[in-house]
Amino acid sequence: MFEVVVVGAGPSGIGISIILQKMGINFTVLERNDIGSSFLKWPKQMKLLTPSFFSNSFRMIDLNAISFDTSPALTLQTEHPSGHEYADYLRKLSAHFKLPIQNNTNVDSVLKTKDGFVINTNKGKINTKFLVWAAGEFQYPKDNSFPGSQHCIHNSLITNWDEIQGDEFFVIGGYESGMDTAINLAERNKRVIIIDKENLLNSKEIDPSRTISPYTKDRLRRVNSNNTIEFHTGRVIRVEKNQNEFVIYTEKKKIQSKTKPILATGFTGSLSLIKRLFYWKEGKALLNSFDESTKTSGLYVTGPLLQQHDMIFCFIYKFQQRFAIVANHIGIKLSKDVSIIEEYKKEGMYLENLKNIKDKCTC
Ligand SMILES: Cc1cc2nc3c(=O)[nH]c(=O)nc-3n(C[C@H](O)[C@H](O)[C@H](O)COP(=O)(O)OP(=O)(O)OC[C@H]3O[C@@H](n4cnc5c(N)ncnc54)[C@H](O)[C@@H]3O)c2cc1C
Repeated sequence: MFEVVVVGAGPSGIGISIILQKMGINFTVLERNDIGSSFLKWPKQMKLLTPSFFSNSFRMIDLNAISFDTSPALTLQTEHPSGHEYADYLRKLSAHFKLPIQNNTNVDSVLKTKDGFVINTNKGKINTKFLVWAAGEFQYPKDNSFPGSQHCIHNSLITNWDEIQGDEFFVIGGYESGMDTAINLAERNKRVIIIDKENLLNSKEIDPSRTISPYTKDRLRRVNSNNTIEFHTGRVIRVEKNQNEFVIYTEKKKIQSKTKPILATGFTGSLSLIKRLFYWKEGKALLNSFDESTKTSGLYVTGPLLQQHDMIFCFIYKFQQRFAIVANHIGIKLSKDVSIIEEYKKEGMYLENLKNIKDKCTC
């Protein structure tokens, strides 16, 4: 039996594994594909919108780093890594820290037992005392938000914008991935109409999980000087396919499209696989202050699926701050030496007391 099993070798799984390794815990990482596989599935042209800078020595960790002693800016020598570059950073870290990752091992289901968990995989059953869920969201797209969604293509399935055929596209969803889709199409001289129930460009929010980032606004200004991207405000209620065209019905309008509408409607996320191991409220898995399920003790969540109070942790710079909280809790329960956590605290990678955190901009 393992002391800990981590599911997923993306930034969350690897970030937490580095601490488990430093604590001398007996653990393994189960990965259905390969290290950083969500990033390897990104469109070739897509880059991280959060900038990397080697600021660690001033105790401001590179926003895209997953351990305080590394920086993607230094490793990759670029400010906005592509998916393939970021996966390369993850591979380098896994090799450097000698992480015990089992590739091509898909977790199908999880059973809670008296002593821990039985994990059913394509390679057989694995037993563990503690389970850290780091399987992300990218590989679990939300592709059934309205009737007729099956006539559309989810943007996470597009791997290269140069291969897209057509002159005019309707993108359903205007958050970051919708904007990235529109910008890529406009850069290839396609006309794009973004349909969303609200225009996030006008949002007064200051949390980048709820509004459009400055990086994307800069890209939009560069590409959209002649308004090839238009915005249509309205909720899509269904899509139909009639012979050679698609019809998009919003609350206000009926729109015809010659090309498959593109869904940028987000992700249901991998917690859908182990849903019954959590209590849920308003779509949120309920967790205690150590990011452990309030229903199933010993089960921890890390990465973009994490939600605490009103905070969304969908960026690396956010969830990197919680790896040490989870690892510390597990380490103490296993009576391990947890002194490494002091380093994480000192280096600014330990965000606790989430209740007292306020998003404010005084000017
Ligand atoms: C379009 C887009 C743009 C983004 N841009 C940014 C950005 O600029 N900056 C930023 O900080 N964040 C960004 N994000 C968010 C960021 O990509 C995610 O937060 C990050 O990938 C989450 O890391 P993760 O390790 O939790 O999940 P993932 O990177 O998805 O890794 C999960 C791993 O788990 C594996 N897995 C899944 N299911 C199973 C299973 N059943 N069994 C075994 N293994 C499994 C997968 O193969 C994968 O390797 C973006 C996300 C999207 C969708």
